Amino acid sequence: MPEVQAHCERMTQALAGATLSKFQLINFAGLKTFDPPADAAVGATLLAVERHAKYLMLRFDNDLTHVVHLMQGGRLRPDPKQSKKPRNGIARWVFDDVPDGGTEAWLLTEAGTERKAGVWAVRGEPREQDPMIGLGPDPTTLDLDAFAAIIGEHSRRLHGVLRTQGIVSGLGRMLANEILFEAGLSPFANASKISVDEMRALYEATLQVVAAATEQERTLDDIGKSVDRPSKMHNHSGDPCPGRGGAGPCGDTVHTVEYRRYTVYYCPTEQTRGKVLADNTTSKFLK
Ligand SMILES: [Zn+2]
Repeated sequence: MPEVQAHCERMTQALAGATLSKFQLINFAGLKTFDPPADAAVGATLLAVERHAKYLMLRFDNDLTHVVHLMQGGRLRPDPKQSKKPRNGIARWVFDDVPDGGTEAWLLTEAGTERKAGVWAVRGEPREQDPMIGLGPDPTTLDLDAFAAIIGEHSRRLHGVLRTQGIVSGLGRMLANEILFEAGLSPFANASKISVDEMRALYEATLQVVAAATEQERTLDDIGKSVDRPSKMHNHSGDPCPGRGGAGPCGDTVHTVEYRRYTVYYCPTEQTRGKVLADNTTSKFLK
């Protein structure tokens, strides 16, 4: 989510106030809606590019919004060449009256074969409609009481609760790993059973980790690869633990619990009172 936030800010700076002159669908499977038509935004002024969860919202001044989801391999980039058949191309937006330093054409691409990235044209408030309906609130918009109420009502492991987009939106595997580490909480702790102090630590770690990641993303000029994002736990299996906050190395190493689709990273010394977590399944192939 921080990478999408920073990208929305870059796009707003490059495009706010410009007029959409053309919306060009290159791969027609990339448009997920048919009513209203996406080119109903042609002639309208782009007000801003905003974020909700991991969606970008290109908000036009005629009540129309283009909602874009990049998924894993999608990118939305300036497209000075405007070639006829761009590689992996899904859709292109061309603007008039672009602010100084902005780029008039932007191209949505998706690498790989998943074909999940796409565009939804939505009239009215986009957060209350497909594809964003049912998403939980952005945790960074909540106060501690609201955060505690939402997280604490789930009798499930914290790592899973943080990653469930219907509970709080915008946190992926990496942020869940980093947040739980900075909070000093076990990824397997039951969300409904943590103490008031632990909930406060979780809330503060969420704000701090997201803010630091967003600051880092603002230094870049595009959405980078997730492996390039700085982290203390995520993707650091077996490395010396750098320690929570600015404390310095704790002497332990980064441990993992492997699942088929993701890995939980944690520091036993600082998160589980030294206990090494095992997963519940007996076979690696059943996970
Ligand atoms: Zn540690």
